[in-house]
Amino acid sequence: MKIVIIGGGLIGLLTAYELARGGATVQLLERGRIGRESSWAGGGILSPLYPWRYPDGVTALARWSQAVYPPLAAELCAAGGVDPEWTGSGMLMLDASDLAAAEAWARRFDYRLEVLAGEALRRCEPALAATAAPALWMAGVAQVRNPRLVQAAHRSLLRQGVAVEEECAVGDLLLRAGRVAGVRTSRGEFAADAVVLAAGAWSGELLAVQGIRPAIRPVRGQMLLFQGAPGTLSRIILGARHYIIPRRDGRVLVGSTMEEVGFDASTTAAAREELREAAFRLVPALADFALERHWAGLRPGSPSGVPYIGEHPQLAGLFINSGHFRNGVVMAPASARLLADLVLGREPILDPAPYAPQA
Ligand SMILES: Cc1cc2nc3c(=O)[nH]c(=O)nc-3n(C[C@H](O)[C@H](O)[C@H](O)COP(=O)(O)OP(=O)(O)OC[C@H]3O[C@@H](n4cnc5c(N)ncnc54)[C@H](O)[C@@H]3O)c2cc1C
Repeated sequence: MKIVIIGGGLIGLLTAYELARGGATVQLLERGRIGRESSWAGGGILSPLYPWRYPDGVTALARWSQAVYPPLAAELCAAGGVDPEWTGSGMLMLDASDLAAAEAWARRFDYRLEVLAGEALRRCEPALAATAAPALWMAGVAQVRNPRLVQAAHRSLLRQGVAVEEECAVGDLLLRAGRVAGVRTSRGEFAADAVVLAAGAWSGELLAVQGIRPAIRPVRGQMLLFQGAPGTLSRIILGARHYIIPRRDGRVLVGSTMEEVGFDASTTAAAREELREAAFRLVPALADFALERHWAGLRPGSPSGVPYIGEHPQLAGLFINSGHFRNGVVMAPASARLLADLVLGREPILDPAPYAPQA
């Protein structure tokens, strides 16, 4: 079976990985360079923020992925020599007033969740501002360094024999006898038995060419990177409507904004100030570190954050794996496996109903 995948972000890469492992011949087409859009820009937290506030469909994908991430990261590292730096940092959530909902969710899905205050909170993360209010602590939350993860996945695909074409923009779908039979690109036509649309925030545009839905829209997120010193901070911290992520080498990421500005991926001085201010309020020591970089990425926004995974109801042969919004990194392994199960006609790892693309 020959499959064309549109989009070389994390979703397209891991979908290619799963399909190739399942015996398909895979051709991955990327308009620019592999993994340089949302999957590069993101924070790599392997949990939704305040996860109980999401639909169960998000929890199901996140849970499955969280269990496979450590072996997957090790496998990708072994295949290509790039370590995605899976790190069990744990996550502290300040400003969580909906404690009852959080505890009910944790019981239902068997997550460990504790309330930390005073000395216990200070011991957990000494760099937190002394004024920090009690926090919810999820010790099991991990992170990956996503630019490394996409690089590791890319290298692993090449070793698997997957054909990867960069600088190759898909403009339209090829239809034959009412089925999708390939794609038309800036580098000619590619025939396929099935096409997987994993073009992130741009997926909606490609569907619009066919006059069909679902709508997937870009939602801009800006991030800051501070040049910290190792050991300054060790936990992921959510608070003041933002988050802080400590990397192993001491760098510290601060995110993010949620902006509906179309396909504009530029950065703004106002967002830089907003992120700096929130970060210094949570962790005063960050004010001593140099700001190394400021960037923006476009999330593939879907109405409730539940991605579309499955065959399009109006276009046989077109499979969608897109719309992961704020949680594409944590949901990617499960999302890729589920899509591969559906393409290859295998027993699916999860009930696909919540993710069925809408006409
Ligand atoms: C600031 C920010 C912080 C985030 N933090 C987190 C986090 O901590 N944890 C988490 O789980 N998620 C996070 N996310 C979300 C996550 O990054 C995304 O959900 C995920 O990366 C989406 O992956 P993707 O492969 O669908 O999209 P992308 O990575 O955007 O990839 C889509 C690819 O398709 C290509 N493409 C588009 N059109 C075409 C075409 N016509 N032909 C060929 N190729 C095409 C693009 O060039 C692109 O490379 C964050 C996102 C942002 C922006």
